[in-house]
Amino acid sequence: METRRKILFTFPVYFLFGILPKQSYSFEIIAVRVWPAPEYTRIAIEHFVKNIKINFAIEENPERLVIDIPDAYLNPVDVKKILGFDIEETPLNKVKVTQIKQNKVRITFEMKPLTRARLSTIPAVAHYKERLVIDFIPHKRKDRLLTFLENYQQKNQTINALKSDGNKNKQIVIAIDAGHGGEDPGAIGKRGTMEKTVVFEITKKLKKALENNSRYKVFLTRKGDYFVSLRNRIKKAKDAKASIFISIHADAWIKPEARGASVYVLSSKGASSEAARWLAKKENLSDLVGGEKLATPNKVIAKTLFDMSTSAQIKNSSILGKDILKELSDISVLHKKNVEGAGFAVLKTPNIPSILVETAFISNPREELRLQSNYHQSRIAKALAKGIKKFIGNSPLKL
Ligand SMILES: [Zn+2]
Repeated sequence: METRRKILFTFPVYFLFGILPKQSYSFEIIAVRVWPAPEYTRIAIEHFVKNIKINFAIEENPERLVIDIPDAYLNPVDVKKILGFDIEETPLNKVKVTQIKQNKVRITFEMKPLTRARLSTIPAVAHYKERLVIDFIPHKRKDRLLTFLENYQQKNQTINALKSDGNKNKQIVIAIDAGHGGEDPGAIGKRGTMEKTVVFEITKKLKKALENNSRYKVFLTRKGDYFVSLRNRIKKAKDAKASIFISIHADAWIKPEARGASVYVLSSKGASSEAARWLAKKENLSDLVGGEKLATPNKVIAKTLFDMSTSAQIKNSSILGKDILKELSDISVLHKKNVEGAGFAVLKTPNIPSILVETAFISNPREELRLQSNYHQSRIAKALAKGIKKFIGNSPLKL
């Protein structure tokens, strides 16, 4: 039936354009992008086929993920795209591409021991067409987080043992979240500057500026150019026992003249402005752009999470936001003079004051230039560090 329909449907097309039937189904690759990271390696194969039907299986000796793509024909350029990445930094030993039948392609990923594979198909979103996303997760991922926590707890115990005056000398963990990463470049400026790159630079400088004082320990939700889902950013911050969560961005606006810094908190009463709503919607799309299959929408869970973000948390977030906005006003114009609110998914961290900072507009050519500059990145980082320290100093929370 299926074949019959295809023949009926495609016949006039071949007739008109003289294309050979086999090629018209061809699985044409637009791009293959590989994001190796200690946490996991994501491989995104961008293509044109909607609702692609693939078969896959894990086979043993050696352990490998085998993906069969039907109705596919790979030309040497596509094969080169799949094989053309540096395997050294990934949890893979070998990648093989074979045309096993005239119209069937097999991709085999030979994995290192204890690697877990995850596969998802992502529909076209933002500037991407359809994607086949394969994640390879090394076993040590969990260990790394555990090691961090163990180290942190151990360090904390030592500090507490050395200094008897408790809270005053307790190390404060600050979660700094560099927006986007990997498959999700964030906003892109006219000169090609990517938001994910500049915010990561700012984040690293902010870590350094804060950790000048041994009272502060900075936890980075992402440590390189790879994607972390919004939910995972929150989870990591909670697991690291962070007292503050700050997400760093540099977004775009339709009008290139839009400029200045702004600070956002989670709002329970809807967005404070149309721009804030627009921005939150765009930021919340980050998971899909980054190649994360969206969890089945579970309104109950979403609501519970939101309800757990108490009014006290939102109030504290606003105070933190104001402290930071004040410092940013010394180094930059402000896009909005007050802390704005909207439904940002990444700010739904129960009981932790959480803010999202738009450091500047990457869509403004002058601000794009500044965002690229090492000097200006440092200025932003220093202003943020000053605001954070001020908040902690006057904190209404027992940090
Ligand atoms: Zn952003």
